[in-house]
Amino acid sequence: MYDFPIEYEEPVFRPPSEGRSFLLQVTIGCSHNLCTYCNMYRSKKYRERSFEEIKAELLRTQQYFQRLNYTPSKVFLCDGDALGASTELLVQCLDLINELFPSVMRVGIYATAENMLQKSEEDLMLLASKKLTIAYLGMESGADSVLHMIVKGNTASDMIRGTSRLRKCGIKLSVIAMLGVGGREKSEEHVRETAKLISDISPEFFSFLTTVAVKGTPFKTMVDRGRIDMLTTKELTTEMRDVLKNITPSQGRIIFRANHVSNQYPLGGILPNDQASLIETLNEWIEATPAGVYPETPEHML
Ligand code: SF4
Repeated sequence: MYDFPIEYEEPVFRPPSEGRSFLLQVTIGCSHNLCTYCNMYRSKKYRERSFEEIKAELLRTQQYFQRLNYTPSKVFLCDGDALGASTELLVQCLDLINELFPSVMRVGIYATAENMLQKSEEDLMLLASKKLTIAYLGMESGADSVLHMIVKGNTASDMIRGTSRLRKCGIKLSVIAMLGVGGREKSEEHVRETAKLISDISPEFFSFLTTVAVKGTPFKTMVDRGRIDMLTTKELTTEMRDVLKNITPSQGRIIFRANHVSNQYPLGGILPNDQASLIETLNEWIEATPAGVYPETPEHML
């Protein structure tokens, strides 16, 4: 067997739906790196990689795949907000990916609202024409007060402007919201504004993950000091139900998934078609869940 030819600068993350994609780091870390609950890239100093470095990796990977007789169909560009890389670097990478791996149908990327707003429509259209056709946005909440509390670095209105620019240029959106991120105090506002923002954006894909107070993060410090009250499993499931109940897509259909490792139960469907049955399932779960029980934190996050 041959060794995989890339030594990633760990840790490396990708969305669940990119599990079979070839991962390529075009940036290292996250240019924002301040969200209070996030420890994904705290060990890394943000930088854009050089094209020479990336090119050498792509050429080695092409040889590796050829030896295995493997043809990749999806590529995911890492790290945390790779859309923040210069358009020049992204174009060079996409051109080489398309040349070396003509079987690739789609390239995905993590993006912040700021990344989206920093790119011109011409830039985004150029990237989309080179198969960069899906971006993943960690929206977390639609409530500005929650976004401010977690130092997200953007507002709901920034996300509306950024995502509509992306969609206009032919890039699909997968948006992720966080259950429980506002704690008990802001739960109602979080639910109301998140449903509203999802309705306004109406992304092609929408999913939830559950907020975990990860060791070493400012969020955990706030929880430990009693500044944020974490939600019980029953309350988290209620938040999920209430967000779903209040979504009215402003355009098209939304494919909904809650299949992240942090979620208690896997769930999925299409909005608005499956809204009633999803809510019914969630009502049953809420009914069956005892009060006062908190979700178990995955061991690697403690
Ligand atoms: S933008 Fe994303 S990767 Fe960066 S700190 Fe916030 S949650 Fe973490």
